[in-house]
Amino acid sequence: MTRHWIALALACASTTAVAASTAEEAAQLRDRALKDNHAWEVVDSLTREVGGRSAGSPGDPKAVAWALRTLKKMGLQNVHEEPVTVPRWVRGEIVGDHPEKLVAVALGGSVGTRGITAPVLMVKDVKELETKSLDEIRGKVVFLDARMDRRADGSGYGENVGNRFLGPAEAGRRGAAAVVIRSIGTSRERIAHTGMMLYDETSPRIPAAALSNDDADLLEQQLRDGVAVQLKIVSSAHDDGNSSSANVMGEIVGQTSEVVLLAAHLDSWDLATGANDDGAGVAIVTEAVRMIGTLGHPPARTVRVVLFANEEHGLSGAKAYAEVHRSEVPQHVLAMEADFGSGAVQQVKSHVGDAGLPAMQQMIDVLAPLGVAGGPNEGHGGSDIGPMNELGVPIIDPRQDGTNYFDIHHTVSDTMEHIDRAGLSQNVAVYAVCAFIAAQHAPGFGRLPVTSADVE
Ligand SMILES: [Zn+2]
Repeated sequence: MTRHWIALALACASTTAVAASTAEEAAQLRDRALKDNHAWEVVDSLTREVGGRSAGSPGDPKAVAWALRTLKKMGLQNVHEEPVTVPRWVRGEIVGDHPEKLVAVALGGSVGTRGITAPVLMVKDVKELETKSLDEIRGKVVFLDARMDRRADGSGYGENVGNRFLGPAEAGRRGAAAVVIRSIGTSRERIAHTGMMLYDETSPRIPAAALSNDDADLLEQQLRDGVAVQLKIVSSAHDDGNSSSANVMGEIVGQTSEVVLLAAHLDSWDLATGANDDGAGVAIVTEAVRMIGTLGHPPARTVRVVLFANEEHGLSGAKAYAEVHRSEVPQHVLAMEADFGSGAVQQVKSHVGDAGLPAMQQMIDVLAPLGVAGGPNEGHGGSDIGPMNELGVPIIDPRQDGTNYFDIHHTVSDTMEHIDRAGLSQNVAVYAVCAFIAAQHAPGFGRLPVTSADVE
């Protein structure tokens, strides 16, 4: 009995000692990351040496080569690429006629047109479109006018992005000639926000474009005033088959075969250099992993960074990773993703099993001095780790300040000028602390219910 108690006391003492040193090392990572400028240099290098890198564009293979070179230079282990087939879409140019030229960009995946001139039917969103008769819609340019609100949590985006994703298919099915949407973005400049849209198999593919907020205001006002506005759209956007790209990976190898996965996407849209989307994420996760590699000892679990191919136009890399690494899914203890620009993290949400909750508390204890609060255990994570999450992998979901993110998101203005330097370093601190504690947390994070049997 006595011996049993002594053994138990020793076990408690040693657990406490290990936990304390993990917390100490995590705090060191936090403090070093805040003083560090490396992440800014990584985004600068990516945007200067590669620039725009949409799937299948000349920037795509350049980005893959840059990522291989950069991860090796950072001292990561097992740096390699895994092939991914991606669709290639060419934006071309939109020539509008109003009579002044409207500022518009094609939506990602849109077909082009040699020229459509048609009257405009204004509706707020897809829901309102569904209330219109086919006679009202037929032959019109449908204008989806809902405005995205500026909010720190970026929730205005999710509320309105359906206009972009689904508007073209819904309008096409009802006989519209084309679709224009008010940009899903908060920019006060006269710039338009692109982003992916989806046609469905059965309805006609009609051209789709986003207007700048200013131009949407003008069009809205004229239509409210009863002006019979005709829009002319000429667009050379088109699909151009498939192309080869790659996911690029590197690791700090741990003492077991279990993996903590850090994700960002290597591609960008074509309109700018993708400094925030997702150069910032690339810098945050690679820097976090690099810093864990400088602690002087291997972490308990492997910390793996994956820079995914083609997130923007169909999640090609995320789907390929979940497929290729399917047998390894049980070894993925936790995943986290950075794809929300460079604003500081305000809260860390999670979706983990009970076993992981003490580690979440430990992370928040270390991060509290950075103004980071704990969040509910109901996070969603990002789109690239979505397929792994659906296969039961727990996730951490750091919520960044998105107040200004949607001013430049998917626009010509997503450049280095709009990187929040201090925010970027704070992100590195958060990701390094969370990933390191996750790698050390012996009980793991449990498994989540599998919500998708199949990953396309
Ligand atoms: Zn992104």
